[in-house]
Amino acid sequence: MNPIKITDRYLMPERLVQVRRYYCTHCGKALEVSPKAFSVSCPHCYNRVSIEDHMISSHHAITNIETCGSVAVTPSGDVRAQLRVHDLQIEGRLRGNVIANGKVSVSGTARIVGDVYANRLEVRPGAHLSGFFTIGSKRSAIGN
Ligand SMILES: [Zn+2]
Repeated sequence: MNPIKITDRYLMPERLVQVRRYYCTHCGKALEVSPKAFSVSCPHCYNRVSIEDHMISSHHAITNIETCGSVAVTPSGDVRAQLRVHDLQIEGRLRGNVIANGKVSVSGTARIVGDVYANRLEVRPGAHLSGFFTIGSKRSAIGN
């Protein structure tokens, strides 16, 4: 079902608590999820949402990635996809549009061709960006 190989699950300190908080990729409302869950049915909009974190370190030409978790593209990662995520950390290449409810972090080695809607953006010197960026407008940019 999910074409992305999960090479790592992040253990960030805030995720070590009993319940993790995510934001639904469809309606944007808060979700409280057991640490062991990989997906959850949103109690607000009833969509099934993935909460998996993905690390992509090779070529992936897929139609889309949707998760309330985070996606990291390593320097060797080359992604052609539409992303709807919470946080995105990109050190490699991305061709596709991004909607991030959280933060997009772009390293100096990253290349992005696509439109980016994000709550927060951090770009290191050297990054190549080509697209329309809308930052900080939160859900108004995301629509549904
Ligand atoms: Zn929802």
